[in-house]
Amino acid sequence: MRKSIVAGNWKMNGNLAANAELVKGLLSTRSGGDNVDVLVCPPAVYIPQVAALLQGSDISLGAQNASAFEKGAYTGDLSLCMLAEFGVQYVILGHSERRALFGEDDAQVADKFHAVVAAGATPIVCVGETLQERQAGQTLEVVSRQLRAVLEVADKAKLADAVVAYEPVWAIGTGLTATPEQAQEVHQALRALIAEYDAAAALKVRILYGGSVTADSAAQLFEKPDIDGGLVGGASLKAKDFLAICSAAAGASANG
Ligand code: PEP
Repeated sequence: MRKSIVAGNWKMNGNLAANAELVKGLLSTRSGGDNVDVLVCPPAVYIPQVAALLQGSDISLGAQNASAFEKGAYTGDLSLCMLAEFGVQYVILGHSERRALFGEDDAQVADKFHAVVAAGATPIVCVGETLQERQAGQTLEVVSRQLRAVLEVADKAKLADAVVAYEPVWAIGTGLTATPEQAQEVHQALRALIAEYDAAAALKVRILYGGSVTADSAAQLFEKPDIDGGLVGGASLKAKDFLAICSAAAGASANG
């Protein structure tokens, strides 16, 4: 039985005042509970602020990206040691926006995965097909290639603790959500792929769905056997919506 997990990806949104308001909303209304792990990933510059606001709560902190390198001449990048100093426990890797807008490729995502695990943090590896790839019937081929690149370098002893996020590119920020059946088909295939590398880990790895998840669509998605929670963009910027998604995930965990 896998514990659900919901991650809020704030992307490049927020400011000091808005972040304080959002976290206040999350902390004042959240009922807590053991059935779901919850984390938020603010823009890097706000990580210290959000870390301080979350102190003593059961909401964890994630980063939206990290360098694979320890230190040195990598202008604009942040190392995992730096992020760890501010309490970052999770790192999103290979988000489709980083792949499409910043040219991150499978090999770089794999390097970063290796570095995140070595630093003792939890990677959230994003995979997903474009609309064109889906229409060409290439969905499983694309997501398998993206995940295989990571599985090839993964330390088997740590694989079970990694998190994967299936995020169809056509569903991110578009208001289009994959149907629970479409998502389940891909999640099942990703778990089967992980099983080729380590059958026990495949049963434990949590696979999130991301792509315009809302308070309304969450429960049906999370009911599916291989969907273990969500990676949430737009809806994570509204405390009420994000908490409703967390409750849906907690309910799915509780119903097993
Ligand atoms: C995301 O940023 O990973 C995401 C899924 O965004 P949205 O929920 O807005 O589609």
